[in-house]
Amino acid sequence: MNADIRNAGEMKPRVLTVLGATGTIGVNTLDVVARHPGRFEVFALTGATQVERMLEQCRTHHPRYAVMAEPAAAALLRERVAAEKLPVDVLEGSAALTAVATTPEVDTVMAAIVGAAGLPATLAAAQAGKRILLANKETLVVSGQLFMDAIAASGSVLLPIDSEHNAIFQSLPRDFNGDFQQAGVKALWLTASGGPFRTLSAEAIAAATPAQAVAHPNWVMGKKISVDSASLMNKGLEVIEARWLFNARPDQIKVVVHPQSIVHSMVEYADGSVLAQMGTPDMRTPIAYALGFPERIEAGVSALELMGRELTFEAPDSARFPCLQLAFDALAAGGSAAAVLNAANEVAVARFLEGAIPFNAIAASIAHSLDTLAGGAAGTLEELLNADQRARSVAEAYLSDKHP
Ligand code: NDP
Ligand code: MG
Repeated sequence: MNADIRNAGEMKPRVLTVLGATGTIGVNTLDVVARHPGRFEVFALTGATQVERMLEQCRTHHPRYAVMAEPAAAALLRERVAAEKLPVDVLEGSAALTAVATTPEVDTVMAAIVGAAGLPATLAAAQAGKRILLANKETLVVSGQLFMDAIAASGSVLLPIDSEHNAIFQSLPRDFNGDFQQAGVKALWLTASGGPFRTLSAEAIAAATPAQAVAHPNWVMGKKISVDSASLMNKGLEVIEARWLFNARPDQIKVVVHPQSIVHSMVEYADGSVLAQMGTPDMRTPIAYALGFPERIEAGVSALELMGRELTFEAPDSARFPCLQLAFDALAAGGSAAAVLNAANEVAVARFLEGAIPFNAIAASIAHSLDTLAGGAAGTLEELLNADQRARSVAEAYLSDKHP
C-alpha cells in the first residue's frame, strides 16, 4: 500500500499540530478531525489570545501541548487547565510555536496563524520536512522563494488550503512539477467573490465601516482576511501565493469575479479545456482534501445544489479596487516588494478595524510604502523580516500623518 494511504485502525494515525487552532480555519480543521476518530492524533494546538476557546479545544481534542503566543493568555490557560486537571502542558511565546511545529513526533502541520506572525513557525516546519497544510498565505507572500526552496530541500509535501489554490491543485495533473509547457497548462484562473463592496460606488467604498467590510456575502472568515476580501487585496495576495505554489509567471495568472463562490478556481489547458473545482463555499472541503490526501474523506459539507442556480463571471474593477494591481506591481518589482506590500497591508487593515482610517487609506498606504521601499533584498529570513519591519514603520508614519 502507498505509504501515504492510511486506514484508520490499520495504520498509525497522522500526528497533527494545528497552528492557529482558535481561528476560523483552526476550528474548521478540528471539526473535520473530530469526524475521523483514530485517523488523527492531535499533538499540539496553538492560539494567541482566546483562552476559553483553547480550553474547550483541550477538553475535546486532548492535545499534549497547548501554546498561547501571548504570555498573559498562557498564564490564564495554565490556571484553568490545572483547575480541571487536564493532561496538557501549556507553553507560551513564538519559540514554542516553532517547537511544536518541528518536533520529530509530529508529521503534519496545519499552518493557520493569520499574517506574517505565522512565518517563522511555518518556515521552520517546512525546513523540518513536515507535511504542510498551508492556510497562512502571508507566509508565501512574504517569503515565497525561501519557503519553496525549503520545501524542495526537505522533501516536504505542501498542500494548499486556500480554496482557490486547493481548487487549482485539484485541477492540475497529480504529477505537475511546475512546468506549464510540459503539462499543457496555459493559465490559472483565480475566482474572486468580489467581496461585500462589489456593487458599491467608489464614494460608498471610501466611506465603508469595519462592520460592513467584515460582512462577507459567502464565507465566514477571520476579520483580517474579511477586510482583505473587501479590498480585493486578498485576491492580490492569492496571485502572489499562486505564483510560488505553482511556479506560474504573473501573466499566466488571471482573476475573474464570480459572486456566487461556487467555482473555486480553474486551470486552462492548451487544448481549450478548462478544469474547475466546484462546491458549496465551506472551508472544510479544502481542509478535508488536504487532511486526507490522497484519499477523499468526509468533511461534513452540505451537497452542492446547482438546480436553479446561476453562475456569473465578470472582470475585476481595478479603479474601485486598486489593491489587486498593487499586488501584481509588487510581483513585478520582485525582491522584498511583496513583503513590503503584506506588512503595509497588515498595518492598514488593523488601523481600519480600529476605526482610525477610512477604507481607501488602505490602498493609499500600501502604494506609498511600495514607492518608499522599492528594491530591497529577499534572500534570507533576516532580510525579509527587516523589510517587514521597515514597511510597518513607513505605513504607520504615513497613516498617522494623513489621519491624525
Ligand atoms: P482568524 O483571525 O480567525 O484566526 C487567526 C489565528 O491566528 C487564531 O488562532 C489566532 O489566535 C492566531 N494568531 C493571531 N495572531 C497571532 C500571533 N501574533 N501569533 C500567533 N498566533 C496568532 O483567521 P482565519 O482562520 O480566518 O485565517 C487564518 C489564515 O488562513 C490567514 O492567513 C488567512 O488568510 C488564511 N485563510 C483563511 C480562510 C478562511 O476562510 N478563514 C480562507 C483562506 C485562507 P487567537 O484567536 O487565540 O488570538
Ligand atoms: Mg481564498
